[in-house]
Amino acid sequence: MGILKGMGVTLRNFAGSYFEKERLITVQYPEERSPLPENYRNFPFLIFDGTDPQAGLRCVACQICEKECPPQCIYIIKSKDKKPDYVGKPQFYPATFDIDISVCMSCQICVEVCPFEAIKMDKDFELSKRERFDNLLFRKEQLSKSNGYYHKIHPIEAAAVDKNLSDAAAAAEAKKKAAAEAAAKAAAAKAAAVSAPTTVASPESAAGSTSAPGQTPPETTKP
Ligand code: SF4
Ligand code: SF4
Repeated sequence: MGILKGMGVTLRNFAGSYFEKERLITVQYPEERSPLPENYRNFPFLIFDGTDPQAGLRCVACQICEKECPPQCIYIIKSKDKKPDYVGKPQFYPATFDIDISVCMSCQICVEVCPFEAIKMDKDFELSKRERFDNLLFRKEQLSKSNGYYHKIHPIEAAAVDKNLSDAAAAAEAKKKAAAEAAAKAAAAKAAAVSAPTTVASPESAAGSTSAPGQTPPETTKP
């Protein structure tokens, strides 16, 4: 009975595929492609903001992903100088950033550990090459892709990341503003303390020679 039921499902889908597109589960690849789900992943890539891939690269070469990558297929050399990051803070950048995709196992650990939202998983799977070694070692230039590309392949995730980054930038700006205001207040208080006249008490007042209410104060005898 089980076999007959299974054959029935197959027959229904086979006949139905002539009338309903969703019953047709094969596509004429590569001319036709099924859309990949949001959370499909293949190999990592680096994100840049703006239009310049190298100036806008979010990666600050902290090397956390390099240390955490289980098969050790990330290779980073930190820059000697610094450039401003997305909140304007001077940061190092990767002078070299390579990923050997012949070794990468698509585990996504590098993405999970990156504190700067700089590395994400790509969906590009048509990467086969005739040569095994150098052609599967992806360099920084090849790995760098725009935030717009990230939005195209992972729209929901990218929107959430953008929100996190803008919240972090706003919080950093508010903190900077509060620190500037506190410093200005402290400077004003210090300036007021320096410019205030200092009152020197006379010997009489120090001895308690104050007049009673209604009485004229005693005249001081000039020498
Ligand atoms: S996906 Fe995994 S194996 Fe590939 S580079 Fe990232 S941490 Fe390494
Ligand atoms: S991708 Fe992220 S974790 Fe890796 S070096 Fe760059 S900033 Fe650090």
